[in-house]
Amino acid sequence: MNDLTNLAPQTLLDWDAYHRELVRISGNRYTGAELSLIRRAFDYAADIHREQKRFSGDPYFTHPIAVSQSATAYKLDAPTIAAALLHDTVEDGGALSDVKKRFGDEIAFLVDGVTKVDKIHYHGAERAAESMRRMLFAVAEDVRVIILKLVDRLHNMQTLWAHPAPEKRLRIAKETLDIYASIADRLGMGELKGELEDLAFAYVFPDEHRWMAREIRKRIPAREEHLKKIRPILEKALADENIPALFVSARAKHFYSAWKKLLRYDMNWDHLLDLVALRVVVPTIEDCYAALGVIHALWPPMPGRIKDYIALPKPNGYQSLHTTVFCLDGNATEFQIRTEAMHRENEYGITAHWLWTQTGKPKEGTRLVGKKFAWVRQLRTWQKEFGHAERSDDYLESLKIDFFKDRIFVLTPKGDVVDLPENATPVDFAYHIHSDIGNRAAGVKVNSKMVPLDHPLSSGDMIEIITQKNRRPSSEWLAFVKTSLARSQIRHVLRGAAPPETKPTETELEIAVNDRVGLLKDISGAFARFRINIETASVERRASAYPVILVRFRHKNPGQLGKIKTQIKKIRGVHSIAEHAKPAKP
Ligand code: MN
Repeated sequence: MNDLTNLAPQTLLDWDAYHRELVRISGNRYTGAELSLIRRAFDYAADIHREQKRFSGDPYFTHPIAVSQSATAYKLDAPTIAAALLHDTVEDGGALSDVKKRFGDEIAFLVDGVTKVDKIHYHGAERAAESMRRMLFAVAEDVRVIILKLVDRLHNMQTLWAHPAPEKRLRIAKETLDIYASIADRLGMGELKGELEDLAFAYVFPDEHRWMAREIRKRIPAREEHLKKIRPILEKALADENIPALFVSARAKHFYSAWKKLLRYDMNWDHLLDLVALRVVVPTIEDCYAALGVIHALWPPMPGRIKDYIALPKPNGYQSLHTTVFCLDGNATEFQIRTEAMHRENEYGITAHWLWTQTGKPKEGTRLVGKKFAWVRQLRTWQKEFGHAERSDDYLESLKIDFFKDRIFVLTPKGDVVDLPENATPVDFAYHIHSDIGNRAAGVKVNSKMVPLDHPLSSGDMIEIITQKNRRPSSEWLAFVKTSLARSQIRHVLRGAAPPETKPTETELEIAVNDRVGLLKDISGAFARFRINIETASVERRASAYPVILVRFRHKNPGQLGKIKTQIKKIRGVHSIAEHAKPAKP
């Protein structure tokens, strides 16, 4: 995406300027016929959006232009570029039938997909996030629609500052963090995921974002100074071994992923060794391991920090060798070694694949042929979770998403998404929400209409269960429920036993401190700000270590814990924080 950073969509409102950029970003990969298709879409969308403005005051058409440019950078095909230009026309006064008549079935299908996905809103229930992601895929029906939604969201996040309603800004940012960034990650699109997360981070956790930005900026110059000294030493050593490093570049860690890592490692900055890492890109896999050897011959590796993501890729397909070594003056430094193809796939994920197949001339031999691409692995994992058999490889040819067809996605009155097997009934839905709702179900409204409790549900239905006190499940329900959850709960109650309850958890934080007057008060103040009562707090003085403050409390939601830890870490004198989950005493 780096080739996009200097573009200002406002300046591209006329075709000639847009066309020049299109050719440049795409590396002149579209044919004359494709360009004239894109031009017709350009003219049509420009006309539909002519009078409209963005919240920022910019002409509305700047938005479809920005979306289509991102799509171009991700090597999407010409119909998808046209669909990107047209993606908001159906919403904003145009008709789908008109798009279909002018641009054909495929483009109309893509535009319709984006419009449908736009109608799905996430209301922030964490348990619903995974279902929500699946629902997006099910509704989109085509991976290209998902990518269009991702780049649409990217531009909307870049311009979110202009949105006038604070609560909507927050909802959109939360949805970006929980749903869209996560989907980009699943598709292996690392760069896009990082951008979406950092844009959302500033709205969802503004204090934490500001703090991280400050802390990281404070730390980066010294690290980069250090890497400047390291780099020529490595370049020479690699050249001596005849390993051509295609480029060696440093990068700054994204703020949000750095913050998440800090939370995982007791807020201890010593663990963020990859804040600035050196990336070594070499021609072949053999070169990767050879370069690792060269690095370890130059500097001693840190035990436990050598990671072979080439032999064992991450679940989203990420491949690289990582190692941390003690460089000059014992300064710990992370190196990431990969081939150019891995590098491209780590950044561009699913779309890196299109680059290869559609230009028809892969630059690095045929190694990629027959390889199971990250996104295919991901889709297959989902497919398996849904209990389908493996399919043959012609599945690779298709961008169609059809393995959700045995599931339905329905909504609670609050808009949470619940996924259920096909032909599931309101009783299945009720038990999915809560055993009490199931046990007391007396009636149901589907899309505001009363229906019987055995009514088969369809995707998109909004379901409201009507409960009555002292109601009990009927043995007749066993004949029509589809989920084992509902069946076992009904049997349980019919046998006369009380359903099992889940116990709340209690958390303990172990805070290592440089003790000072007022420190304990500052720490309890941080908890008070979150309206959390501390159950017990004690100070332990250990020989040859920092004194430790142990704080026990019950917290209402797990998402809050990260905020609390950040608050505490900000307090002067706090050295590190460790977390222990404790089972609650009855
Ligand atoms: Mn849009």
